[in-house]
Amino acid sequence: TGRWARAVAILKEMEEKCGTPIGKLRQVADAMTVEMHAGLASEGGSKLKMLISYVDNLPTGDEKGLFYALDLGGTNFRVLRVQLGGREGRVVKQEFEEVSIPPHLMTGSSHELFDYIAAALAKFVATEGEGFHVSPGRQRELGFTFSFPVRQTSIASGDLIKWTKGFSIEDTVGEDVVGELTKAMERIGLDMRVAALVNDTIGTLAGGRYHNKDAIAAVILGTGTNAAYVERAHAIPKWHGLLPKSGEMVINMEWGNFRSSHLPLTEYDEALDTESLNPGEQIFEKIISGMYLGEIVRRVLCRMAEEANFFGDTVPPKLKIPFILRTPHMSAMHHDTSPDLRVVGKKLKDILEISNTSLKMRKLVVELCDIVATRGARLSAAGIVGILKKLGRDTVRDGEKQKSVIALDGGLFEHYTKFSACMQSTVKELLGEEVSEAVVIEHSNDGSGIGAALLAASHSQYL
Ligand code: ADP
Ligand code: MG
Repeated sequence: TGRWARAVAILKEMEEKCGTPIGKLRQVADAMTVEMHAGLASEGGSKLKMLISYVDNLPTGDEKGLFYALDLGGTNFRVLRVQLGGREGRVVKQEFEEVSIPPHLMTGSSHELFDYIAAALAKFVATEGEGFHVSPGRQRELGFTFSFPVRQTSIASGDLIKWTKGFSIEDTVGEDVVGELTKAMERIGLDMRVAALVNDTIGTLAGGRYHNKDAIAAVILGTGTNAAYVERAHAIPKWHGLLPKSGEMVINMEWGNFRSSHLPLTEYDEALDTESLNPGEQIFEKIISGMYLGEIVRRVLCRMAEEANFFGDTVPPKLKIPFILRTPHMSAMHHDTSPDLRVVGKKLKDILEISNTSLKMRKLVVELCDIVATRGARLSAAGIVGILKKLGRDTVRDGEKQKSVIALDGGLFEHYTKFSACMQSTVKELLGEEVSEAVVIEHSNDGSGIGAALLAASHSQYL
């Protein structure tokens, strides 16, 4: 019928606009490298902020003692404690707890948000039991993973540049987030010192390095997306401080804000961006990360319903609700292997209240998920190759095999198997077989929590 043909036309157009042939990916990788240079050259020199983290030494394995970490980065925040036993003992014991942030706190006041966090942390500290020992007379110390763009002013202070990922709290912007947390801890009488403020990418890199000395970069694919890597200090023209002894500095790229004319953007992406909390910003993030993939799929389905009566004569009302189709739902549909695509049918019914879908329709929905996920996965791969290029690790230098480990973390990478598989095979495709052998993508499970605790240890006031 005409309806069906129109829906297929919308799908095909989407496929074409989302295309990421290898040549385009190379352009994206090159643009990433160029922007990295520009962001390192001067403050505001690029969409990529290339933030200096003040982390000039990554964990060595010698870290010792009890340390806490707090990870605030998306919908959940986690508190963690770890007893480190030095080179021999490694991680002696660790415990964590996950607490969800009530949505109203994400757009309320700074005071309320940090009070809530401090209270959850205090509750967790109160359950500290056997196997955890803070040295007598010492203050407990914390690594604070705060995964929003921050202008660091030292290893343990930094001002919030802007919120992302659905947070929007006016009065935190421009403030030192460690100050905010410390004041909240004081208000409830929790005696703890923030020893390190890091981004989740930095935490993941620190955790990755603790496990593998060849770790040189970290990438987060979760609610949002970002990357960090180890740069040579003298390759950072905008750094006017003393050169660190190590000669190195970890850079938080804030790559979610990357944008380039080479990115394959569609009208759906443009509409999503315009209607978002942060129009014009985080364009790379908006086509790659978990917060947005399901929403892009919803928008295309909505168009099919409106213009092709794809789901019948009326547009299913639920389909018009932004963000109702979340990426985990999309992923479940995409991975459906049942012959009648039962999961797809059930998701469409349960979430969008669309019943009686034919197998043909379900197949088209799966194809759409594939188009959107593939674009995101291949572009993340191009980003990773951009970093390797910047470091000169995208080629084999006269037979020398220098290993490069990239630590990956985040719910999207962890759970969206087709996405991660596509990303990894695209990295190989871009690098070629020989170089690929020396590049390892490693899942750093909760590297960011442990990493922040490790950095708190190496920046302890008692060293
Ligand atoms: P955050 O990024 O908020 O710190 P995570 O790294 O745990 O937290 O990532 C959570 C995100 O991962 C979710 O917002 C969602 O987009 C994505 N995600 C979680 N589970 C799945 C899944 N099964 N399939 C696809 N994406 C998922
Ligand atoms: Mg996270």
